Amino acid sequence: MNKWQTLLAQPGPLMADGAMGTQLFAAGLQFGDPPETWNVLHPDVVRGIQRRYIEAGAQIVLTNTFGGSRFRLAMLNLQSRVSELNRTAAILLRAEVEASGRNVLVAGDIGPSGDILAPVGTLEYADAVAGFAEQAEALAAGGADVLWIETMSSLEEIQAAFEGVRRVAPEIPVITTMSFDTHGRTMMGVTPEQALQALTERGAAAVGANCGNGTDELLAAIQRMHAAGPRVPLVAKSNAGMPELVSGKAVYRATPDVMACYALDVYRAGARIIGACCGSSPDHIRAMAESLRSADLSAAPPPPAAPAGAPPAERPEAGAASDRAARRQARAARHAGDEGPRSE
Ligand SMILES: [Zn+2]
Repeated sequence: MNKWQTLLAQPGPLMADGAMGTQLFAAGLQFGDPPETWNVLHPDVVRGIQRRYIEAGAQIVLTNTFGGSRFRLAMLNLQSRVSELNRTAAILLRAEVEASGRNVLVAGDIGPSGDILAPVGTLEYADAVAGFAEQAEALAAGGADVLWIETMSSLEEIQAAFEGVRRVAPEIPVITTMSFDTHGRTMMGVTPEQALQALTERGAAAVGANCGNGTDELLAAIQRMHAAGPRVPLVAKSNAGMPELVSGKAVYRATPDVMACYALDVYRAGARIIGACCGSSPDHIRAMAESLRSADLSAAPPPPAAPAGAPPAERPEAGAASDRAARRQARAARHAGDEGPRSE
């Protein structure tokens, strides 16, 4: 068994980590700075955040590489540094895991490109595959145990990421989560049921939901996924509440106690791997781990039935592709911890 299978063979919930971006901003990252460069400039800060997540109980921790693909690094003219920044990120986290003496998985984080695939958008499928392969290869070379494709809106883009990963790391477990932040669908119109089916068919080791509009919407996505595939390992990583815009900054108000309740709710709804996303901190993860440890989890109720009349077809939100691209970029920027003023 590989490390992922060994971890999954344990009974009960598995803890993932919380936000990296908002933690880096708290540590001094400035608006416009690419977080991935901190793997080289301030490795002690990145490792310190990951150390606190491990100490809080996280058994799966993500590398600081959400925006580490050539697509996103090119926005800052850093596309030549994909290999260096991703490989370094995995090496750093691997070192932190070894130092902890705990059985923690290094998850190589892959975020969305920020572009829409052709013909609707401008990113050619073959280029998307090549770009994700480049990032995946560096993460695997640096020692990632699993690759973690997250905050996705489009099944086509996930397909490209999957294909890129498989080109360079045929055996590595791939975990995939999408953001259902548009009336129960992703911004590209994908429902939780469609995501579950497509991603398990593609061979994902686990699937789930992350980021989005807060705990209630994320819980609903998990309920629907569990009803559609009760045996599939599900991942739940909610933001620390619904993002509120205050003076141009995204603010997340869910306290550790609120997130502790959410952790129990999503576990009882069928999530197996539970962490948090934007706005969360090691304090949130600690409270969540504690509530899962102390609760009587044997009394989990049966999963609810799938909501009646869930529409089957992929149906993108109304609106021009450029609107969607702008909203996706804004969400990805928020997720990366970029809380500065945006042009849109
Ligand atoms: Zn997020």
